[in-house]
Amino acid sequence: MKEFSVVIAGGGSTYTPGIVMMLMDSLDRFPIRSLKLYDNNAARQEPIAKAVGLALKKLAPQVAFSYTTDPVEAFTDVDFCMAHIRSGGYPMREKDEKIPLQHGVVGQETCGPGGIAYGMRSIPDVIQLIDYMEQYSPNAWMLNYSNPASIVAEACRVLRPKAQIINICDMPVGTLRRMSYIVGKTPKDLDVRYYGLNHFGWWTSVKGKDGTDYTPQLIDYVSKNGYLTQKAIETQHMDESWQATHKKAADLLAVTPDCLPNTYLKYYLFPDYVVEHTNPNYTRANEVIDGREKKVFGAAHRIIEAGEFHGDEFEIDNHASFIVDLARAIAYNTHERMLCIVENKGAIANFDPHAMVEVPCLVGSDGPEPLCQGEIPTFQLGMMQQQVAVEKLVVQAYCEHSYQKLWQALTLSKTVPSAKVAKEILDDLIEANKDYWPELH
Ligand code: NAD
Repeated sequence: MKEFSVVIAGGGSTYTPGIVMMLMDSLDRFPIRSLKLYDNNAARQEPIAKAVGLALKKLAPQVAFSYTTDPVEAFTDVDFCMAHIRSGGYPMREKDEKIPLQHGVVGQETCGPGGIAYGMRSIPDVIQLIDYMEQYSPNAWMLNYSNPASIVAEACRVLRPKAQIINICDMPVGTLRRMSYIVGKTPKDLDVRYYGLNHFGWWTSVKGKDGTDYTPQLIDYVSKNGYLTQKAIETQHMDESWQATHKKAADLLAVTPDCLPNTYLKYYLFPDYVVEHTNPNYTRANEVIDGREKKVFGAAHRIIEAGEFHGDEFEIDNHASFIVDLARAIAYNTHERMLCIVENKGAIANFDPHAMVEVPCLVGSDGPEPLCQGEIPTFQLGMMQQQVAVEKLVVQAYCEHSYQKLWQALTLSKTVPSAKVAKEILDDLIEANKDYWPELH
């Protein structure tokens, strides 16, 4: 069996240890000969990399491990790049969230003005990773889950249309896991029909492999409980703010009662509720800085101080096993059915063929093949047309350095009440992002 060489871009990410643990736990399904971490911030990557190195020494000494900030070293001789970078880090995420809130508008990592700001920062960085990969390992595939995935995916479509990159999100995977608990199955037992944009979509059917239709049972459950489940799920999406998000799905479902909503729709359907329930001085970025970041880096420092890995300092990020499923699908041509972010090309029959949509795909060695989801209803179509125009305008604004188009993007976002407020937020975001964005004119 071939053994693969993998580079994780964003080596200093809080997600890296969990993903490495998951990869080591999956070596029988996806054998790895070489694992490299790559980051553009040596100081941030170092503790994570040193601790991961000690963990690998214990768990899988046969895997060659290294870490670097040198793109040549990182991207030479790799089969897969798993990318989870955060351009600007948590300090910029905090600004993405707090600046819109100062104007009474949703402040969120991937949705609304915050997502637009983050998108403008992520575009050049993800494109740079693609270029490194194509230059040093031209046959490699990039599995990208760096956010904001929809804007990043649109930028890839426009700027690197032939690149071997698959953009994918963990949110539908996480929600499907919740659904599987609700109906007493595992996610692998279920097939879904789904359409939307990233962080913006609906399940129209959830069925067992034997054809049993669980959709009515799920709709009934979610209408009462949202996606809150009795059974504790996993480490991902468990903080208090996430529990409120899972619960809110009941109200989202009330708007489209025959299909199951992606939880992120709350930012578009109930922005007033979201703003009322957000502390503008302590947002999700602060929660993560005080929670996940402290926990992961604390564990890394403990391992380094002890000089060895005892086995329980890092948790296996089982929720991320979809990344192994995706790598396997490409490596072994499995044609596994997975939700990916792909160019529509008729998969949603009455929607822009050149939009980047999130739909079920069969993934094989040529990448994802979208499955046709047919025509969608007027309400969802209208929402998606508005949102996809926002995403396209952001990429156009980035490419043309256009203030006008970025202002239009903010104005069109369903989270923003007027062109006046959009302009005020934009001007603050430009000031905050002057080290990252191209100069707009
Ligand atoms: P983090 O800040 O802890 O880690 C990101 C790392 O990327 C940092 O070490 C940073 O130095 C590095 N980095 C930034 N720009 C880089 C560049 N140009 N080249 C190389 N490295 C670079 O952030 P995190 O909370 O771990 O999140 C990482 C990313 O993963 C974010 O984009 C987040 O939104 C995304 N994410 C996606 C999913 C999904 O399924 N779509 C799930 C969780 C997180």
